[in-house]
Order: sequence, then structure tokens, then C-alpha cells
Amino acid sequence: MNPDRLEQYLNCERLLNEFFSQTDFCLENCIRLEKSLYVNRFESLPGWIGCCALDYYNSTSNLPVDIRTRLRSEQIRLYGEPKNKEDSIRFKEKTKKPCDYHTEYGCALKSHKAPLCIAWVCKDLKSYLHKTFYIDYNPSDVQCHLEAILTGKIDNNRYDRFIDKLIQDTDTLRYGRLLQKRSSVNSRY
Ligand code: SF4
Ligand code: SF4
Repeated sequence: MNPDRLEQYLNCERLLNEFFSQTDFCLENCIRLEKSLYVNRFESLPGWIGCCALDYYNSTSNLPVDIRTRLRSEQIRLYGEPKNKEDSIRFKEKTKKPCDYHTEYGCALKSHKAPLCIAWVCKDLKSYLHKTFYIDYNPSDVQCHLEAILTGKIDNNRYDRFIDKLIQDTDTLRYGRLLQKRSSVNSRY
């Protein structure tokens, strides 16, 4: 696998981690809720253990074998084999453990996640981003870009545009959150 492509991929992963760290949505609106421990596909909020219901670190079937193998070997080299000790939870009328890499502190993989893991958000978070900050975040589109970067199917212009949007959205989010905090402080006086 071309090392430059992996470097570009990791760069996007870092930017997306930064973007999501600014959202401040999942903990209060999902992860801390009792119902988020249980999956019911008929409810609007997928919730539960965040969204890590299955072993999505393996969800790389869209990618060529050499890239899948490289990503997986980097996951193991950096973070070891998964060691999930959590209890099973209900998922689609079955009982199953959350993703093997899930821990009580979230995902054990701090980098080299699968494109789906990096890009995915539920519709509640998507709608929150749109309604509160006017940010249009399209998880499928982000996943496609990440896969295209890994496979070399993206040219430099498209890569730059993708990066620019990530940076711009993160700035929008950061500024919007700052305004929210200021207005909440002002409303106390
Ligand atoms: S993206 Fe949605 S399902 Fe996943 S942790 Fe956040 S609120 Fe929960
Ligand atoms: S690898 Fe991490 S982000 Fe992906 S499903 Fe597992 S715990 Fe969640």
C-alpha cells in the first residue's frame, strides 16, 4: 500500500477526530442514557454503547485485500488484539457483545480505524449538526472519500477540497460552541 495514501488517510482521521471532539453531543444525548445500552432498531436513536454494536473495525470489504490487511495489521501493532470484557447486549432481537474493540472508555483504537468507524454518525447527530450549526455532514460521502484516499482514487484537488471542508466545519463548530457558551453565561446574569 502506498505510504502517502495512508498518511493522507491518517491526516483525515485526525481532522475528523478533532471535528467530533467539538460536537459535545454523544455523551449527554446517547452514551450516558440508559436506553443507549440496548439496541432497538425501531427506535430513532441507535444509541447504546455509542454506535459500536458490531465489529466494524472489520467493515472494510469495499477495500482491496492489501489495504485491508495493512490497516488491520497496524491496528494490532499499535493497539493489540481486541479484549472486550463487556457484558452482552441486545441487538436486533439477539444478544451480542459490543464491538471487540469497545471499552468502557470508548474505542480502544485511537487511529487506523476502518472508514466506516471514522465517518459514521447517526441521524440524530447529523440533524443536530445541521439544525444547530448549519453543517451538512454526510457520513456516506465522508466514508467514500476516505476509501478513495486509501485506494488512490482521489486526485490532489479533490483531496484538498475534502480537507478544506473538514477544517472549515471544525472551525464553524468551534465558533458556534463558543457562542453557545457565552450566551449561556450571559443568560445567568
Ligand atoms: S453518533 Fe449517534 S449513536 Fe453514535 S454515539 Fe453519537 S449519538 Fe450515539
Ligand atoms: S473499532 Fe472502535 S469505533 Fe469501530 S465499532 Fe469498534 S469500538 Fe466502535
